[in-house]
Amino acid sequence: MSVTDAESDTLRGRLLWAEIDLDALAFNIKALKIQASPATLAAVVKANGYGHGSAEVAHAALAAGADCLAVISVDEGEQLRRAGVQAPILVMGHTPVNDAQRIVGLRLTPTVNGRELPLALAALAEAAGVVQPVHLKVDTGLSRYGRPAQEVVALAEALRAIPFLVVEGIYTHFASADETDKTFMQEQYRVFTAAADQLPWISVRHVSNTATLLDCPEMSGDMVRPGLGIYGLYPSAEVKRDLGLRPVLSLKGRLARLAFVSPGDSVSYGRTWRASRPSVIGLAMCGYADGLPRLLSNRGSVLVKGERAPIVGRVCMDMCMLDVTDIEGVAEGDEVVIIGSQGESCITAGDLAEICGTISYEILCGIAERVPRAYFRNGEVVKVGTLTSPLV
Ligand SMILES: *Cc1c(COP(=O)(O)O)cnc(C)c1O
Repeated sequence: MSVTDAESDTLRGRLLWAEIDLDALAFNIKALKIQASPATLAAVVKANGYGHGSAEVAHAALAAGADCLAVISVDEGEQLRRAGVQAPILVMGHTPVNDAQRIVGLRLTPTVNGRELPLALAALAEAAGVVQPVHLKVDTGLSRYGRPAQEVVALAEALRAIPFLVVEGIYTHFASADETDKTFMQEQYRVFTAAADQLPWISVRHVSNTATLLDCPEMSGDMVRPGLGIYGLYPSAEVKRDLGLRPVLSLKGRLARLAFVSPGDSVSYGRTWRASRPSVIGLAMCGYADGLPRLLSNRGSVLVKGERAPIVGRVCMDMCMLDVTDIEGVAEGDEVVIIGSQGESCITAGDLAEICGTISYEILCGIAERVPRAYFRNGEVVKVGTLTSPLV
């Protein structure tokens, strides 16, 4: 898949963009939903849909069979409502009591951690003539959010008596689901199940992130919450890879300039790279402000004409330089693939993450807002979002 002039006027002449393959996203949703069956699927679209654009991902995920959405904050939920999303939206982060009115007004489903927020919600729901759903989170060992099992059971029973409020769901989140050794995860699951079993009147139990859904589909319960998997990536090298998930995002650009340097010449700030032979240096308009980690300086590579071109010298804020000396016929305007495939070659977000000592999640979320996103369906651009002509 590549952008031609016929396909998109908006991308013509652009030097950096991300391509979002909505067909791959739909494929992944369907594969994960089969894996979770009969559980429902909440597509996790926090952090602007892991950098893919939350509104576009939400609409495409729902069309492909996702049942609802999950985000972290009320702001993220509001963004989806403004984009016309009607489906239920679970807010998984902490919601301050000040946001009670927005929760009710936006029809969001918050995670509650005490009595103050639900009491405020119930009063507002009564005034609005609606019933407000909430979920409870059991902290089973991530020590991040939620309450210990016995406190959740007591809280649930207290909330059960409040009119205009319904405790719809109970959930937990695992600390090491993406590791081969599932001992701790099984223990978390046991603690969660023991608590949930005391609350059989709560209709939706859910524990599964992508790694859990891949490795332990029997834990799917009533609902699953995959994030990374819907974007076509695997959470770690240790999880099962038998679903054939397809990466959704590619990051591409074009060579803006070729420079010819002599032995001894240096490239970029700090002069950390010097030519050992007459070299051709390609300029890509992608830097750390676009989400290309500076840790890739002198370590990463990109694809040009299906071959690897090393990043030479330090990655700058807005640009990076490439050694394209060995790439036959290289020319200004040639396509540069930073994440994605070209010819027979492929570079994944996971490959970049590994060089940088991080995880693919961070690479995806780091792709800056100023990088235009081009959405593809059936190999054609259906929408382009940029800072000057934003989506939503
Ligand atoms: C982000 C998140 C998920 C999704 O995790 P993935 O590893 O991306 O599948 C699920 N549940 C909670 C509570 C999360 O914060």
